[in-house]
Amino acid sequence: MSETWVYRFDQLDEVDAHLHGTWDDVRALLGGKGANLAEMTRLGIPVPPGFTVTTAACLAFLEADGTPPGMWDQVVDALKAIERQTHKHFGDPENPLLVSCRSGAKFSMPGMMDTVLNIGLNDETAKGLIRLTGDEHFVYDSYRRLIQMFGTVVLGLRDELFEHVLAGAREARGVATDAELTVEDLQGVVTRFKAIAPRFPSDPIEQLRLAVEAVFSSWNGKRAVDYRNAAHIPHDLGTAVNVQTMVFGNLGEDSATGVAMTRSGATGLPGLEGDYLMNAQGEDVVSGTRATQPVEGLGDVMPAVYAELLATAQTLESHYRDMQDIEFTIENGVLWLLQTRDGKRTAQAAVRIAVDLATEGAISQREAVQRVKPDQIDFFLHPQLDRDARAQAEVEHRLCATGLNVSPGAAVGVVAFDPDTAERWARDGRDVILVRPETKPDDVHGMLAAKGILTSRGGRTSHAALVARQFGKPAVVGVAALDIDLGAKTATLGGFELEEGDWVSLDGSSGEVFVGQLDTFVPDISDQWLATLLEWADDIRVLGIRANADYPVDAERARTYGAEGIGLCRTEHMFFESERLPIMQRMIMSESVADRRSALDELLPMQRSDFLGLFRAMSGLPVIIRLIDPPLHEFLPTYEELSERITDAKIRLSKAASLEAVDELLARLRADEDTQRRVLALHEANPMLGLRGVRLAILYPEIAQMQARAIVEAACQAIEEGYEPKPEIMVPLTSDLRELAVVRDLVAEEAAAVLAERDVELEVPIGTMVETPRAALVAGELATKADFFSFGTNDLTQTTFGISRDDAETGFLLDYLRDGLLEQNPFATLDPDGVGVLVDMAVTAGRRTRPDLDVGICGEHGGDPASIAWCHAYGLTYVSCSPYRVPVARLAAAQAVLAEAGPAEEG
Ligand code: PEP
Ligand code: MG
Repeated sequence: MSETWVYRFDQLDEVDAHLHGTWDDVRALLGGKGANLAEMTRLGIPVPPGFTVTTAACLAFLEADGTPPGMWDQVVDALKAIERQTHKHFGDPENPLLVSCRSGAKFSMPGMMDTVLNIGLNDETAKGLIRLTGDEHFVYDSYRRLIQMFGTVVLGLRDELFEHVLAGAREARGVATDAELTVEDLQGVVTRFKAIAPRFPSDPIEQLRLAVEAVFSSWNGKRAVDYRNAAHIPHDLGTAVNVQTMVFGNLGEDSATGVAMTRSGATGLPGLEGDYLMNAQGEDVVSGTRATQPVEGLGDVMPAVYAELLATAQTLESHYRDMQDIEFTIENGVLWLLQTRDGKRTAQAAVRIAVDLATEGAISQREAVQRVKPDQIDFFLHPQLDRDARAQAEVEHRLCATGLNVSPGAAVGVVAFDPDTAERWARDGRDVILVRPETKPDDVHGMLAAKGILTSRGGRTSHAALVARQFGKPAVVGVAALDIDLGAKTATLGGFELEEGDWVSLDGSSGEVFVGQLDTFVPDISDQWLATLLEWADDIRVLGIRANADYPVDAERARTYGAEGIGLCRTEHMFFESERLPIMQRMIMSESVADRRSALDELLPMQRSDFLGLFRAMSGLPVIIRLIDPPLHEFLPTYEELSERITDAKIRLSKAASLEAVDELLARLRADEDTQRRVLALHEANPMLGLRGVRLAILYPEIAQMQARAIVEAACQAIEEGYEPKPEIMVPLTSDLRELAVVRDLVAEEAAAVLAERDVELEVPIGTMVETPRAALVAGELATKADFFSFGTNDLTQTTFGISRDDAETGFLLDYLRDGLLEQNPFATLDPDGVGVLVDMAVTAGRRTRPDLDVGICGEHGGDPASIAWCHAYGLTYVSCSPYRVPVARLAAAQAVLAEAGPAEEG
């Protein structure tokens, strides 16, 4: 028996029996749309009868460049079955059946592939349909649409050719819309369309065959390939084709068509949200060419149908246990569902919908936690327009227009009127706003490159809105006050003249558009649904979450974001501040220990106050403070800078007018020459592998002593003030037990001395970073002298790969990534095969020595969701990341637990 290539919508049981698989397998075979049409049919929801030609048929077609054997016979059989169900006949002038032919891949790719509607119309069936409906206008309008779509999609003709004819007809009749053309006008349009598309076949079966093949081929069309690349959809899935009985929303004033989501895709607010048009076909709604009405309006015009729509939407949402995006048509007062799918949503909506569904009992809390992608949490950190800047712009009358607020966040950039310019300018590092009348699938590359999107037409479900939301681009669409002259590359925006390259600022949350470049800020995370979701994540996760924070304000922010301590305070950052740098430089320049100590004595109170701030912010929580880490030359001017200064001083000296001036210049010259000698002495070919980290503490023990003293004195003061400080001291870049032992003793002694002086009892754990391969290899030994470990995976990646972390992301690593020699950037996502093995080994060996050893990670990987999953697998105690990543890490850590437990539970 030959393979089954075609399944009717009412044959889902057969599909199940054939696949013995999951819903995912069904979607892979029938495509998302086909699977859902079949499922809706099984649920008893009114779906126009039809069938799906499988993705397997598409792949076979693309491979053999022809339909697979048996497929066409199966299509014809399925068509006959539909004829029996509808009592209409394909190609029969007496009672013609018309069908649509739409693509439908496993993952939705809105507008990326092709659709042909009204298949089955020709001169004879058109006459038959007129007899049946008595509506010549509708029939000729449908006929011209078929030829236009067939011409562009199947025959590859340019749409402008057809639009030109329509524009001519409108002009001749003196009307603004196609709907106002007369029957005679439309007949004329049909005749001219046929002349443009002479290969348009009048045989309905031939129309269907060519349309199915065109949809198959559109899988490999440029815009589909671009979209898949951007959305990370595999290229080997193929698309299914859905052939479905046409129902018409343009049969008069008891007919309509629309799209709706069961909850707001922008905010997650419960309740049907969408648009509809009376007396129209679906493409009119989606293309944004006609002004749509909010779907609630249907309640006034057709209350019974609207009630049925609400009930159906509810049934679908309950069945799929997720927000649905539905397409419907009302034909002569009868409701039909044409499509349902999980609705695209903003990150904000994703969070709210997940939490609301769990609160309503539709899904579990665990499932809600799984439904939000960690990166979506970033939305809450999206830039927003600065409030003062906005107020100022309003005063200056620069708020020039308002449109639909379809994708939140603020975007500020220069205007580009076409996607290629947007892409090119973005590549040059410019922030761009893509400004178009409306967007089409061909514009996607420019939309992706742009910071924000602004269109004069289109609604909430227009292409621009959908794509913007999916990719998190702020967008304002349907701005009536925007009038674009694409030819001249100019526009008027609410009375302002705009040229390409002018600055505009838009607020995708309010729909407001400003001329000029407004300041933006990143908002605080105070969304109640997010807070709930993260609390649920906290209940699930095993990993602790700490922050890398150097300053009290960062520590405070980290704590409000949910950090459970500081995993890394890089003390050197404090020395770069302008009033401290000269003292630091004096310390480095010191020839004697006494001089060095005197400079350090000046630094001590500054360090102490830094640490005190951290202890106050993190009272009751551990604060890991790392001893100074970088090579000392980083604190001095460069050799070249000093050479220039010296030359300059010499020139000025030769022209000095007074003895005082000579004295002063000479003193400066000597000082610069001394510094240059020191810079030369400190010079190393590979400073990142040189005198830094623990090695500094060995060579200059006074520095480590000063830091230990500052930490413990600050802790004592915090206790006095009523706080509960929990300081821990960390030694960086260790690779051998003996160096760790020396520094540990040094630090422990100083800490004990301070505690004795202050008569305070406090435990101050001393641990080490594990950031060289050798440290990982001898971790069992290191644990004898370390109370805790923290993996510095930035250095550990650098030293394990032997790739400089400072040059990696501009150099050959990019070629490696482009050419697939590396799958992931190992400095962004932990390399589980190399670095990860070292981490795993070191954890095991360390805990063998010291079973209660706390082990964390404080490299950049600590905020990367994929790396966090590995950290969970290795049994780390916590991850530490930048304050802004803390919420992301909380969710990712919970998802690591749930992924381990297996797929999300149903029901
Ligand atoms: C690391 O190496 O991963 C680390 C956290 O230390 P730094 O980035 O300061 O070298
Ligand atoms: Mg490091």
